[in-house]
Amino acid sequence: MVSFYPGPSQVYKEIPAYVNKAWETGIISENHRSKNFMKLYKSTVRLLQKRLEIPEDYSVIFVSSATECWEIIAQSLISKNSFHFYNGAFGEKWYKYTRKIQPLAIGYRFGEDVVLQPRNIDLSGTEAGVICITQNETSNGTQVSNEQISAFQSLYPDSLIAVDATSSMAGIHLDFSVADVWYASVQKCFGLPAGMGVLIVSPKAMAQALRIGENDHYNSLLFMQENASKWQTHYTPNILDIYLLKETLSNAKGIRKTNKRLAKRLQSLTTLIYGRDDWEFLCTNDQVRSTTVITVKGSVKKVKNLKEAARKNGIILGNGYGPYADSTFRIANFPATTRSDWKLLKDFLKSHL
Ligand SMILES: *Cc1c(COP(=O)(O)O)cnc(C)c1O
Repeated sequence: MVSFYPGPSQVYKEIPAYVNKAWETGIISENHRSKNFMKLYKSTVRLLQKRLEIPEDYSVIFVSSATECWEIIAQSLISKNSFHFYNGAFGEKWYKYTRKIQPLAIGYRFGEDVVLQPRNIDLSGTEAGVICITQNETSNGTQVSNEQISAFQSLYPDSLIAVDATSSMAGIHLDFSVADVWYASVQKCFGLPAGMGVLIVSPKAMAQALRIGENDHYNSLLFMQENASKWQTHYTPNILDIYLLKETLSNAKGIRKTNKRLAKRLQSLTTLIYGRDDWEFLCTNDQVRSTTVITVKGSVKKVKNLKEAARKNGIILGNGYGPYADSTFRIANFPATTRSDWKLLKDFLKSHL
């Protein structure tokens, strides 16, 4: 079976070999304060910075999940106000989790076909605080561009910008310099086994954490950074996942090349979908359609039949999410998908859509 589920998604085919290598090197039996672990942490961060083009002065911290990042941001970086721009289930969840910790959080919902335009939104009169954007909305297959995020940065230079890139980081080129906090979990675009998140923090956000001075939790950002600055973690981390991340990154191409490959794949599916009367993208605006989570809409009956036929052909299509559970299917367009698996999918869709 080849899975196109957008998370947990199909892991890299090389994972078994890398797990074996990890076992042979002994790193997965080592203490997370050991020299060997610190070396692994450091080289993994350096590789991440190089492959994904993360600025060198941004911290990279390993956490348990993207969900944990919602909590970390609410605890350690929001002093009072936060603004959540969302058009789908994950962005909304982020807003709702934040509100439990920071009751002044404000949610702003926009349409799935809408290009988010900060110029049209007035945040004045409220101290702008932290602006929260879900870059790639996994539930409906939409995305926010680097340029849109950058427009927020120019309009609100005193605010922090936090970005959920859980299902796009490592797949598309993100301009990390246009925001202060970025995070993802490894079971999506990174093509790794579930159980770890990556949190990326700018010096400006670290300065904000210092000003707020929140240090009441095991996952307070200040405490995490204190450990990260020694190439250690604030808790016993998923050492195996860190090792697998390092191995997959050392064999990966630079992010711009990967982005091009995924964009080409999306393009070929776009041509196919546009040529079919019974199917359309959930997001009809190609300016904001996600590159990495392709969401296709059809009648409930056709979606059901297609998913069944796919299974018979060795293909697992992702279910729709939330309100779109039955009327859409989703395809993870992630880098771990091999050329032959993608061909299998395309041939299947060509003959069944
Ligand atoms: C999957 C997902 C999350 C949650 O990730 P976990 O690793 O399960 O915590 C958050 N945001 C988005 C956009 C996601 O796709």
